[in-house]
Parts: sequence; C-alpha cells; structure tokens
Amino acid sequence: MTHLCVAIFVDDVAMAQNQIAQAAAAGADMVELRIDRVLDTNIITPLVHTSLLPCILTCRPKWEGGHCELSDDERLRLLDAAATGNTHYVDVELESTRHHFGPLPAWRPLIFSSHDFVGRPNLLYNIVVELEQSSCNVAKIVWTARTIRDNLEAFELLQNRSKPMIALCMGEAGLISRILAKKFGAFLTFASLESGTGTAPGQISIADMKKIYRWDKLGAETRVYGVVGSPIMHSMSPAIHNAGFDTVGHDGVYLPLLVEPGYESFKAFMETFLNFDGLHLSGLSVTIPHKENCLRYLQEKGAEIEPLARAIGTVNTIVIDPLATGNSKLATLRGFNTDYAAILDAVTIKLGIRREDLAGYRVAVIGAGGTGRTAVAALAHYGATTIVYNRTLERAEELAAEFNGHSGKVVAAPLAKLCDSCCQIYINTTSVGMHPNVNESPLGDQLPRWSSDTLVFDTIYNPMRTRLLQQAEEAGAKTVSGVEMFVRQAVGQFEAWTGKPAPAEVFRQVIESRLRPRD
Ligand code: NAP
Repeated sequence: MTHLCVAIFVDDVAMAQNQIAQAAAAGADMVELRIDRVLDTNIITPLVHTSLLPCILTCRPKWEGGHCELSDDERLRLLDAAATGNTHYVDVELESTRHHFGPLPAWRPLIFSSHDFVGRPNLLYNIVVELEQSSCNVAKIVWTARTIRDNLEAFELLQNRSKPMIALCMGEAGLISRILAKKFGAFLTFASLESGTGTAPGQISIADMKKIYRWDKLGAETRVYGVVGSPIMHSMSPAIHNAGFDTVGHDGVYLPLLVEPGYESFKAFMETFLNFDGLHLSGLSVTIPHKENCLRYLQEKGAEIEPLARAIGTVNTIVIDPLATGNSKLATLRGFNTDYAAILDAVTIKLGIRREDLAGYRVAVIGAGGTGRTAVAALAHYGATTIVYNRTLERAEELAAEFNGHSGKVVAAPLAKLCDSCCQIYINTTSVGMHPNVNESPLGDQLPRWSSDTLVFDTIYNPMRTRLLQQAEEAGAKTVSGVEMFVRQAVGQFEAWTGKPAPAEVFRQVIESRLRPRD
C-alpha cells in the first residue's frame, strides 16, 4: 500500500489539529508534521498524542531546505522528546546520520532522507545504496527534476528497491512522480492540504490527487495517458479525461507532461517514455509547442498518420498500441488530428448537415494561425468555399494558396473587409476576445449582414460567451462556442484510446465548471 500523506507545517496546536482533521476528512492516511518552525515539545507532544492520523515527525534543518537552525544534536534531542504517542515514523536526514556518532535514540521506525533542491544529485545511486544499506526502515530520496525524464529514474529506483522507499521529483516537471508513486509501489507520496500550501515545490493538493488524478483507482497496471506541452499546468485536459475514465470505468490516469520546447526535447521524451517497461504509456494529447514536432517524430518512426493531419502539418493525438507480447518497446504508434474533426463537427452538427454538404457553403475563417490553418484545411477538404480574413494579409494569402483547389476554393482577404463579407458560416480562430480581453471582438463594432441563417462559431472557449458570440446573438445568428470544439477534440482522443464512447456531457460539465464566469 502506498500512503497518501499530507504534509503540515506546525505553528500552533489548534491550527495543526484542525489541519490534521481536514487531512483525515480529505482521505489522507498519514500526516507529516514539520516541527522545524516550533521547536517546543509543549506544542508538539500534545499534538502528536491527539493526532487522528499516524504521524511522521520531521524537524528539517535549514541546510536541507527546512527552517530549523538547531545543531544536529539539539534537533535529535528535540525529536527524541517529541516522538511519542501517535508518532509512527521519525524522519532524519541521511547527512545528519553521517555526522552523528552516537547511537540514534530508540525511536519508532526511521525514515532516512536525502533532498536536492537544485537538481539531480551527481551521486544519486551512491546515496540510494547508502540509504538501503543503512539502519532506516524507509529510504527517502527526493530531488528537483531537471526535465520530465528524471521521473523515470525515480520509478526505476522504486522498481528495484530492497526496502520501503520514497522516491520523488520536485518541481513542475516532477509532478508525475508524485502521482505515479502508487503505481510503482512507493511507501508514500505527499500532498498538500490546499493548492499552493505545500511543504515542497510541485506538491499538489490532496483534493486534486483524489478527484483529478484518481488516486484511489491507481494500481500497478493502470494505463498512463497525458498531454505533452509547455507550459502545461493550466491545461483542463487532465480533469476532463480523468473524469471520463471514472465515468466509463477505464483503468487509466491522464497527466500533465511538461516537455521543453524543441524537437530534440520532444524526441527524447518519446524515446524514453515509450521504452520504459511498467509505465504502460498508452496515449498522448500533444499541444503547443509540440504539434509539429509530433508529426515529424511520427514520420521518422514510420508511424501510421491520418492523411489530413499530414496535410495540416500537425498531430495532436498519439495512440500507442502495445503488441500482444506486452513489450512496450515494440509498441506501434498512430497519429491523428482531432482538432479538424472537432471544428467540422461543431459546425455541421449545429447546422444539421453532413460534412459533404459543406461543399455548398461559403465560410469566412477569421485568422491564419495554427487553428485557422486547421479550419481551412478541413473546410477545403470537404469542398467549402473559404475566405481567410487575417490581420496580416500575406499570411492569409499563403494559407489560401496552399489549400486552394484541394476540393474547395480558398481565397484571402484583409481583416478590415470582413464587415463587407457575405458568408453563411463565420469561424473565429484569432485570439481576439479571449480572457482577459473579453470586451474585444475581431469584428470591432461593424458587423457583416448576419441573419438567422448565419452560423457564427468562436473557437475561443474562455470566456464561453465571447463578445463576438454576443454580437452574433444580437443579430439573430446561430452560435457555437469554443467549448464545443474543446469537447469534441477530447471526445475523438478518448475514443481512439479507450475504444469506448466518450462521456461528452461529463467533459462539457468539467470544462464549464472550470471556466470563470464572464465579468
Ligand atoms: P496563433 O497560431 O497564434 O494565431 C493567432 C491568430 O490570431 C493569427 O491569425 C493572428 O493574426 C490573429 N490575431 C492575434 N491577435 C490579433 C489582433 N489583435 N487582431 C487581429 N488578429 C489577431 O494561435 P492559435 O493557436 O491558432 O489559437 C488561436 C485561438 O484558437 C486561441 O484563442 C484559442 O482560444 C483558440 N483555440 C481553441 C481551441 C478549442 O479547442 N476550442 C483549440 C485551439 C485553439 P496575425 O497573423 O496577423 O498575427
């Protein structure tokens, strides 16, 4: 069993008792009491005696990332006096045990710990051997992840442990080691009581651990999915897909995967994560800045790639099919772009038409960036007449030239001419109107001739009801929000990975509950 341990800085008894009660109510099965700021047995002893949960007692010195300035001997004496009642473990720094020549007091079981707040210790494996050969009951090694690949080393240490072990990476890139600790059989992982109140960088709240990352459902065979990007912590995809796994009963967990920009970083991530036995990496969403890198990587690997994704030049979904042998090194990869299908579905379902029917429509695509390109490629493929309106006309012209004649006609026009346009469908793919600039519209105040036959689709999902959509509603036009696209691209991914119908309504509820209401 891997314990879920809430770390608490003790400042006074009442507050700490309250926090222990909150941790118990939130589902923690252990607390770590960090006493390095109190140093007073009159506070610590009653707290330990009344604790609702088993405690780890830790008095971390300044030189190991804590607050305590006492000498080693003084700290050990304090721990000795305080470690009574409900204390189940005492944590002592490995470094202190090297300097302390006398026998350690006859405590409860011991955790010997080693932390590196800067990066990976050069002598990582020497430290682990020292921990494993020491008299401690639990070996704890924690370091700051330099890249996401450091997590794999933590998993490897857990796989090869000879005694109970805690192996964690700190920082944003190390987040997955905190969640997957359970999959790899760690002694415990730490969580904070609330977001942003952790005792170490990268700790996530117990509520997120339980509700978003499915802590209670994680096991050795749990399949791993995630979204690759940088930055990535803002992504709503983990909340959406994990809620989906819960709904359909799929044994999976979906994680934010921070991979630095650049093809080499993406490739190194793919090669190491795909080849890591026991990880069960089964599917990836790919977002900014890696969608083009993803296509290149899959091309180099000779993977199966959806033809339209090739034409668009980006892949946002990888399906990883392990061979029957179970050897992940021989997994086959397939690449898709679920964004284009999401754009097409958002439009055609609202209009009650088939994709092929788009051949009879004139569509204005506003914007010529990544999303504009995806929309233009998809519309041109299904024969729509498409006019690309963009602030930078040359960009619109290049895009039009690339896709004109694929099936439908594509032309370019300056954004300023949009109010003179006469199309049945308008798709905004610019970022104009996105939070926090919620009063802006790519049209300004001059609207084209819109009627109840016009459909206006804004790909922006935050806010859900943009200024552009308000203008469209006021003109009597039909509207579609970017939430629809977000839901549909996630549906495409979920179904490709699980082979089960995606709970689209659950996805919609998760997204809507997370988006801030319009000011
Ligand atoms: P991008 O590649 O950076 O393209 C941005 C586009 O917006 C360009 O055409 C740019 O014009 C235009 N633009 C930016 N600021 C402007 C301004 N002040 N006035 C006029 N035009 C302006 O961005 P992207 O990745 O395509 O994303 C664009 C939007 O798509 C985002 O807002 C995002 O919300 C939305 N999106 C939604 C989903 C979904 O699932 N719903 C998914 C992906 C993206 P220039 O060429 O002149 O610079």
